[in-house]
Amino acid sequence: MKVIKPGSTIGILGGGQLGRMISIAGRNMGYRFITLDPTPDSPCGQAADRQIIASFSELNAAKELANSSDVITYEFENVDSDVASILETTSFVPQGSELLKITQNRIREKSTLQSNDVPVAPFMVIQSEKDIHRAVDRFGFPCVMKTATGGYDGKGQWVIREKDQIPIAVEALKHSGVEMIMEQFISFSKELSVIVARNLAGQAKTFPVAENIHINNILHQSIVPARITEEQRKQAEIVALKVAESLKAVGLIAIEMFLTNDGAILVNELAPRPHNSGHYSMDACVTSQFEQHIRAICGLPLGDTTLLSPIIMVNILGQHLGKVLDKLDRLPTTAKLHLYGKKESKENRKMGHINFLGSSFEQVFQQIEELKIWD
Ligand code: AMP
Repeated sequence: MKVIKPGSTIGILGGGQLGRMISIAGRNMGYRFITLDPTPDSPCGQAADRQIIASFSELNAAKELANSSDVITYEFENVDSDVASILETTSFVPQGSELLKITQNRIREKSTLQSNDVPVAPFMVIQSEKDIHRAVDRFGFPCVMKTATGGYDGKGQWVIREKDQIPIAVEALKHSGVEMIMEQFISFSKELSVIVARNLAGQAKTFPVAENIHINNILHQSIVPARITEEQRKQAEIVALKVAESLKAVGLIAIEMFLTNDGAILVNELAPRPHNSGHYSMDACVTSQFEQHIRAICGLPLGDTTLLSPIIMVNILGQHLGKVLDKLDRLPTTAKLHLYGKKESKENRKMGHINFLGSSFEQVFQQIEELKIWD
């Protein structure tokens, strides 16, 4: 297995908060960083040694990143396939581009999972108005239509609750001009995620299962350990490892799942990178997801992922930032603040998060409530 030793340079495609936190973790280990992002002084650029300021599709910039790096990783999925192939031919990209291609498109992602016997919500590919009617006939109300590509945080998603809402979906399909999928609406008791790290030698390790609470389709809280039975926890880990192994993931892969009301696990979505629902690991695990990602792509042994304390991670969106800054003196001393250095604060933009550590969830929930930041 190729080993990229500390002192080497890691190139990161994308300058957002995930790249920033990879860089901070890697700098502690003695790695150097270079990032490519169109926004000057990006969150990752602030933590890296150097930033190439260019669009992601600029092939010369991708070449420059590849020429300056001993190993390349990315912090978002929508990497252009031409760029991915330049990076792969010019530098060392242990994650490859195959998994990227799969996770860039929900149809490919769900079909691949299905063909590997990983349980997913029943779905149909939607290319025409007729397909929408067929899918509604099959799944009944409510059902969920999603764009095959480019959606995030609930964008590009339509829940069809009754007959009257079908025209909205038809309009959305016509207007967007992209393929969609329709999914059966899953009655879930919990949303869970498991992050798996896998290195080039095939060694794989899971992080503790997170229970995720979304508000308006955006992650609000991750509660760890998830409040589920031991059997459900084992099942979630088995499914996550199966996904990582069958897709031959290298680096991190985050697996978002539904725990249905009948106790079954269905995989909803994959992300081949560090994930918001794994930010708790920065303060609560022996090894953080960011350090683990570096270990995995650099050919180092994977670190211990033991959870050291119950924890609740709460996201700070644009609308919360002012209150957080006003209440710095009221944060519990066991709360760890992480801000991403973004210049512009906008509604629903992820600006940072707080990891609340505590001995019990009751205590931590009470601390969060008393702050009155998120109500
Ligand atoms: P996604 O973009 O697929 O991660 O969906 C965003 C959120 O929408 C999920 O976290 C769920 O809360 C909800 N959601 C997505 N798909 C379904 C589904 N098939 N059934 C019920 N809720 C869903």
